[in-house]
Amino acid sequence: MSFHLKCRSCGRTAAAPILDLGLQPLANNLLTPADLAKPEPKFPLRLAVCQSCWLLQITDLVPPVELFSEYLYFSSFSDLMLRHAREACAGYLKEFGLNAHSLVVEVASNDGYLLQNFMAAKVPCLGIEPAANIAQVAREKGIETLEEFFGQRIATDLAAKNRQADLILGNNVFAHAPDTNDFVAGLKTLLQPKGRIVLEFPYGADFIEHTEFDTIYHEHVFYFTLTALQPLFERHGLTLFRVQRLPLHGGSLRLFAGHTGAHAVEPSVPELLAEETRKGVNALGYYAGFGHQVRTIRDELVALLAKLKQDGKRIAAYGASAKGSTLLNYYGVGADTLDFVADRSPYKQGRLTPGTHIPIVPPDELTRRQPDYTLLLTWNFAEEILAQQQAYRDAGGKFIVPIPNVKVV
Ligand SMILES: [Zn+2]
Repeated sequence: MSFHLKCRSCGRTAAAPILDLGLQPLANNLLTPADLAKPEPKFPLRLAVCQSCWLLQITDLVPPVELFSEYLYFSSFSDLMLRHAREACAGYLKEFGLNAHSLVVEVASNDGYLLQNFMAAKVPCLGIEPAANIAQVAREKGIETLEEFFGQRIATDLAAKNRQADLILGNNVFAHAPDTNDFVAGLKTLLQPKGRIVLEFPYGADFIEHTEFDTIYHEHVFYFTLTALQPLFERHGLTLFRVQRLPLHGGSLRLFAGHTGAHAVEPSVPELLAEETRKGVNALGYYAGFGHQVRTIRDELVALLAKLKQDGKRIAAYGASAKGSTLLNYYGVGADTLDFVADRSPYKQGRLTPGTHIPIVPPDELTRRQPDYTLLLTWNFAEEILAQQQAYRDAGGKFIVPIPNVKVV
């Protein structure tokens, strides 16, 4: 890899390569059978770390219009995400004293799965969601939704209309916004003087330590540690005042920020920063073994699948997710190994997985066709899916969980 990557946060040219996943299709670009007649676009997918601010980032961007015009991820299809959203909203309503005079803005509000909780509590809310088909679902629930990408432009526009927010929420969007300085500047502009920003995203330290390489895909530009985030927020006059670690998506952070001086900084922030320094997040050695571990998992998984095929076992997969696409394409596991991919979303059923072209079917195909083994591509929802598929397991079906280590359950 040649490296002249300009860091998308600090602007310096000091990146070191971490992992090269080669040419990959867009991980959310599920194909229709008719699409197979056309060439499938593929783009380089490489991960690097900035040796100045220690931000992990992918090196090659795909234009966002290619990515989001018809997005197929509906948050409401996960019971776990719905419950998580409900509990978080109840906490914010109580702690922040939100009422009929407040405004809650959610960035990448998806189908309104989160804001509907504020609407039920009669707190005014506004969603910002670039995917037209998903924004429409939110509007049908009665949630005002702007069809936009978030950034300084839309924030300035809302602030000019006296629509600054008491609470800005962003779940699993921050790491997907390539112009991260514009995104954080927009948060600053949109926030009331005493307002709060709460962002959730996969945690870069869990990502490295648990070899969650399959969460790398073109939409997912950044893998944030607190070490890398603090200078980014300070640059825009914002201060991180609380951080929580969540078990979601293989380990996430929930980050609380406000205007500098508006809220007392709680011990959780310096504590996690100190922990990261102890681990060496601000040195190249911390990232050195990642690529090797990715290849170790590949060797184990590919050998296991080959052995099962040799023994005449039938194998399927569960979860037509973005991470599934990265894993299957990088590990070279395709339709000759996996009979089908089961997925709960009717928007995905009837389509084919990107690059590997495996048919996507409803989950009840697992009990109907009873494959001997099912590769769990959405391992981040393992508990929920294993419980939903108890009948398949009772009939002798086994799941293969690939990450962080290959295991059969
Ligand atoms: Zn940097």
